[in-house]
Amino acid sequence: MSEEKSLNFIEEIVEEDLKNNKYSRIITRFPPEPNGYLHLGHASSICLNFGLTEKYGGYTNLRFDDTNPVTEETEYVESIKADVAWLGYKWENELYASDYFDTLYEYAVKLIKKELAYVDDSTSEEIATLKGTPTEPGKNSPYRDRSVEENLDLFDRMKNGEFADGAKTLRAKIDMAHPNMLMRDPVLYRIKHAHHHRTGDKWCIYPMYDFAHGQSDSIEEVTHSICTLEFVPHRELYDWLIERLEIFPSRQYEFARRNVSYSITSKRKLMQLVNEKIVDGWDDPRLTTISGMRRRGYTPESIRDFCDRIGVAKRENVVDMGLLEFCVREDLNKIALRRMAVLDPIRLVITNYPAGQTEEVLSENNPEAEDNGGTRPIPFSGELWIEREDFMEVPAKKWFRLAPGAMVRLKSAYIVKCEDFVKDDKGNITEIRCTYIPESKSGNDTSGIHVKGTIHWVSVQHAAEAEVKLYDRLFSVENPGEEEDFTSYINKNSLQVVNKVYIEPALATAKPGEKFQFIRKGYFTPDKTSTPEKLVFNRTATLRDNWAKESKK
Ligand code: ATP
Ligand code: MG
Repeated sequence: MSEEKSLNFIEEIVEEDLKNNKYSRIITRFPPEPNGYLHLGHASSICLNFGLTEKYGGYTNLRFDDTNPVTEETEYVESIKADVAWLGYKWENELYASDYFDTLYEYAVKLIKKELAYVDDSTSEEIATLKGTPTEPGKNSPYRDRSVEENLDLFDRMKNGEFADGAKTLRAKIDMAHPNMLMRDPVLYRIKHAHHHRTGDKWCIYPMYDFAHGQSDSIEEVTHSICTLEFVPHRELYDWLIERLEIFPSRQYEFARRNVSYSITSKRKLMQLVNEKIVDGWDDPRLTTISGMRRRGYTPESIRDFCDRIGVAKRENVVDMGLLEFCVREDLNKIALRRMAVLDPIRLVITNYPAGQTEEVLSENNPEAEDNGGTRPIPFSGELWIEREDFMEVPAKKWFRLAPGAMVRLKSAYIVKCEDFVKDDKGNITEIRCTYIPESKSGNDTSGIHVKGTIHWVSVQHAAEAEVKLYDRLFSVENPGEEEDFTSYINKNSLQVVNKVYIEPALATAKPGEKFQFIRKGYFTPDKTSTPEKLVFNRTATLRDNWAKESKK
C-alpha cells in the first residue's frame, strides 16, 4: 500500500536529507511527559516517529520528558511503555530527560561562561511585566549585566539549595526586543524543591522544556525531532541553543495535532474525567486512550491503519470518529471468531423435536478468515433462546423473520415454521412455538424449501450466561475538547449494561484479549474483569455504522 501512496511532507524532508547525505541514518524519538496515559493523538505521533525509522532505517528512542518533578509518576511510565509495545513498536533505548540533568547543568554553565545566560532575582510577575507585548519590546532585567563570576557563583548556590522556590531563575541572554516573545531572555532553569520520581532529592533546580527538549534530542543525535504545531515559535530558540552550545544539530519539524470527533485527546482533560469518576479509570472502554481502546477490543493493527489513513497534516482538523470505527471493523471482520449470543432473549419451543433429544450442528468460525477459520460444534435442542426482535406478531412488509405462519432458518441448523405463540396476562409474548423440518439441516438440506431469513439462537439447556456492555459515544457534541465545561456534554446513554445474555458454550471459556463477532450483533471482547464465573463482554463496535444513520435522521 505504501508504495502507491504519495509521501507526506516529513517523509519528503527525510528522503531529501538522505539523498544529500545530511545524515547517515535517521534517528527519531517519541517523547511523552509521564503525567497521564497515552491517547489516540499520541498514537498518531508514535506511528509517525516509529514509522519513519521502520521505513528509512535507523531507530527510534522512547524518551520520557520528565523535567517537571511535580506531575510525574512511575505508574504513567509503565503504562506508556505497555501502550507503545502493544501498538507493535520497539524502541531502541528507553531514556529519561532526567538522565541528562548533569549534562544540562554543564550546558548551562557553558552558556554563562559565554556570557549567554544570567541569574535573575526578578519574581515571575516582574519577569512577565518586563517581557513586553507582541507589539512592544520588553525591558532588560536589572540583573542582566551580572558578571560571569557572579552568575557562576549564584547558579552553583541555586543548585545547592540556598534559595527558595521562585527566588531566582537562570535566563538566556538573547534580546528583550526580539519579535519572537520566546526569544526575550527565556527562563532556562527554575528552583523547585520537590522530589523527582527518578533523581529523588538530588536536584532542586529543574530545566525548562526549552532547555531540556532540544538538548536531549541533540545528546541522542536525533535527526528529525517531530512535534506538534504549537511548538513552531519554539523552533527559533531550539536552534539558537543548539548553535550556541555547539552540539549535535538536531532539527525540529512540526505537524498538526490529531483530534478525533466526540472524544478527548488531552491528558489534562482525561485526568479530570478519571478524577471526577465520570469514567471507570484511564482504561474506560469509552475513552480513546490506548488502554481504553485495548480494553474495548480494538486491535493494534486497526489503530495503526487509522493513523496511516489520517496521515500527517500541516493544519489542524478534526478526524471523524467513524473512520476509526471503520478501521476496527475492517480488521475484526478478518480475525474475529463468529459466535452466537442472544442479548434480548425469548424462548422458542420446537413442538415436533423429540423430547429430551440434543444434537450437534457445525457452524463456521469465520468465513472471512484467510485460512477459512474451520468450524465448531454447537449443541442444538428443542428449546432455544432467540432475539425478541426476530419475531413480529403482525409482520411488517418484507419481513423475512419469524411471524405467525412464517418460516426462517436457524443459523447452521434447521428451518422452522412458527405455529403459535404464548402471551402472559399483561400481553407480553413469552414463548414462540414452532415446528421444524427434519430434512432441512444445514449442510444436508434435502427439503427443497427456500427461506429468506436466517436468525441466530442458543440452546436453552446448554447456554451460558453473560453480562454485556454496549457503548455509545462518550460525548454528545462533536468537539468536546473545545468546550471549557466539557464534562457537561457527557452522553448519559454512553454505557448500557445488558444482563442475562445467553451465549453458546464455546464462549464460556473466552478470555480477555480474544475477539469475537456475535453474529448480527457486533464485535465483542471479554472485559478485563471477566471471569469464567462471571463473564462480561464489551462491544467493540457494531457491525455497521449505525451512528451515521442515526445522526442523519
Ligand atoms: P497532552 O495535552 O495530552 O498532555 P502533550 O503534547 O502535552 O499532550 P506529551 O506527552 O508531551 O503530550 O506528548 C508526547 C508526544 O506526543 C509529543 O511529541 C506530542 O507532540 C505528541 N502528541 C500529543 N498529543 C498529540 C495529538 N493530539 N496529535 C498528535 N501528536 C500528539
Ligand atoms: Mg505536555
